[in-house]
Amino acid sequence: MQPGHNATVPDEPRELLVERVKSYDPAVDERKLRLAFDFAREHHQEQIRASGEPFFLHPIAVANILCDMKLDWQSVATALLHDTVEDTEATYFDVERRFGKEIADLVDGVTKLSMIELTDEVSSSAENFRKLFLAMSKDIRVLMVKLGDRLHNMRTLNFVKPEKQLRKSRETLEIYAPLAERIGMEVLKGELQDLAFRYVDPAAFETITGRLKAAIDDAGELQQAVQSELAEKLRESGVEAEVSGRIKSPYSVYLKMQSKSVEFEQLSDIIAFRILVARDEDCYAALGILHAAYPMVPGRFKDYLSNPKSNGYKSLHTGVVGPRRQKIEVQIRTHEMHEFNENGVAAHWTYKQGKARDATSYNVVRRLLDLLETADGAEEFLENTKMEMYPDQVFVFSPKGRLITLPVGATGVDFAYQVHTGVGNTCVGIKVNGRMRPLATVLRNGDQVEVLTSKNATPSPDWENFVATGKARAAIRKYIRNQEGEQYVSLGRKMLDRLSQAEGRSLNDKALEKILGTFGKAEVEDLVRDIGAGHIGTREVLHAVYPDLKTRQRELTRNADVPMEIRRSIPQPDSHKLSLRGLIPGMAVHYARCCHPLPGERIVGIVTTGKGVTVHTIECDTLERFSDEPERWLDVAWDSDELENASFVGRLHVVTLNNKGSLAEITHVISRNDGDIINLRFAVRSTDFFEMRVDVQVNSLRQLNLIIAALRANSHVTEVARARG
Ligand code: MN
Repeated sequence: MQPGHNATVPDEPRELLVERVKSYDPAVDERKLRLAFDFAREHHQEQIRASGEPFFLHPIAVANILCDMKLDWQSVATALLHDTVEDTEATYFDVERRFGKEIADLVDGVTKLSMIELTDEVSSSAENFRKLFLAMSKDIRVLMVKLGDRLHNMRTLNFVKPEKQLRKSRETLEIYAPLAERIGMEVLKGELQDLAFRYVDPAAFETITGRLKAAIDDAGELQQAVQSELAEKLRESGVEAEVSGRIKSPYSVYLKMQSKSVEFEQLSDIIAFRILVARDEDCYAALGILHAAYPMVPGRFKDYLSNPKSNGYKSLHTGVVGPRRQKIEVQIRTHEMHEFNENGVAAHWTYKQGKARDATSYNVVRRLLDLLETADGAEEFLENTKMEMYPDQVFVFSPKGRLITLPVGATGVDFAYQVHTGVGNTCVGIKVNGRMRPLATVLRNGDQVEVLTSKNATPSPDWENFVATGKARAAIRKYIRNQEGEQYVSLGRKMLDRLSQAEGRSLNDKALEKILGTFGKAEVEDLVRDIGAGHIGTREVLHAVYPDLKTRQRELTRNADVPMEIRRSIPQPDSHKLSLRGLIPGMAVHYARCCHPLPGERIVGIVTTGKGVTVHTIECDTLERFSDEPERWLDVAWDSDELENASFVGRLHVVTLNNKGSLAEITHVISRNDGDIINLRFAVRSTDFFEMRVDVQVNSLRQLNLIIAALRANSHVTEVARARG
């Protein structure tokens, strides 16, 4: 296409097209169809095709191809408009304003399909691309228009450069022809294949077409004789039938030659005979007559009547040694089946349209797809119709091109679990289209997703908040349930060790075994688990083992009016602190949301019934609430080894001047110091100040302090503080 060529197309093609659509679609909106023609003509006015013709002849040709298939007037209008949004100034809204949402969406769908970039090495992932095409054609008419578009482009491919001819032809063979087959459009598929074959393997194409032609010339008389004899046999037995012979397509012969090294020796290699009858039962009657009259060729009989192909194809196939001892292939079907086999969904559509004129055309398509879905043995078709008709799914690829289907809203974690539970349990990051993304990233159609795993990584309980698939949720829960028990055991042991050291009394398994009965437990581990989960207090256990300690403790508690002082009064050297090592945040240990403790800060644990330990900063106001329950306090310490890869959320209260660029400054300062803003909320937004709460993900208190210092140094910032609550 190039500008500057003023080509005009007269009105005659428009009126012809309207008449054609009118002849089969009584619902046609003639005014809009004419308007579509005029709109496209006007927008493509200056463009010409590689052939030198006005570009607009292309959409007209595509519209006529769709007319051949008797598609509804909306599809024909879409065909006229299909290149306007992609190749001209026209926008979606221009189209919507003039033609309404239905047609605008159809045009938009075709435009989106045209924008899918096919890689050079299509072959390796052709199936995935086909699925993606289906997924993106939310309305099957989108795919039909696209197929019509491709057919016309293939018919006029001789005008483009050889590299493009080859590329387009490969795409046609690998993507478009199989798609046409999948929706049962046999005729369209055959033409696409033969057109592409010519460019993909010109030598083979020449040879086969040449030999086919010669063979047909030779067999002309033979074909006639076979046809009349078959017709005669059927008539004698009282079956009304039409018998015809169809020359095989060059491409189908080529495929057969590759798989079976066929030569042009027999009639069955070049011609397929077809028997069309009125009713289903006539098919079997005709088959019986044939098998009675001629020896059957073993292995050639197929009953696609009781077992239709996945695209809905119905027919009986057989091979016999027929008239004049010729081996022949015969297909037997009704006229109605034949129409469907040739034009697939399109044929069904036309058939249905007459009966459901009141329904919207979308519903018509929808219903006929339902019809196909319920057909026996249509598993593959069912799977694929689901893809095009159910907008609640998203299709993504693994790095090797494997297609993974997920519900809309699925994230990197869902993807990882879909690949394998083990991958999900150990995933630490994802790359989407080659770039690192958060695990919670929502995936989109066509994304290529790579999962990064780490041998020692474990699922985070937080994941449950964002995963979309039941599979991921169930796996995370299962892991956590298993892990939680172990975590409580581990925490319980730590709590007992700590108390035992502080009191100088042994609390080993032997000691615990003696008191299992007191707590109604069968195993030491059960007791320890309940301690970790906060159901049983460590002091209760200590007193059960050493009853003499009870009195002392009671006195101590009575004296303890102020809990802060209690903590100071009980000597607790650092070695008695409970280390958080090996405890997974979110399971046996929780970081309090009121004070967001950070590694490096002084912290204290509160034993929480059924939840293990909640960690607060030592200054947290919430601790007041537990002043009456000193037995729940636990002196805990960060485990420095494990902090390396962990991240924590620090909450900041920030006040800035309401200047242009203030916000950008803040995000910049934070990210420059390797902090990740995970949440930002404005508390006050006045004309001169912004007051906000910023949650920053950091690795340590030290890092948060660096960020605070950097923010304070910034001229836009007037105030920064750790937020409490
Ligand atoms: Mn086009």
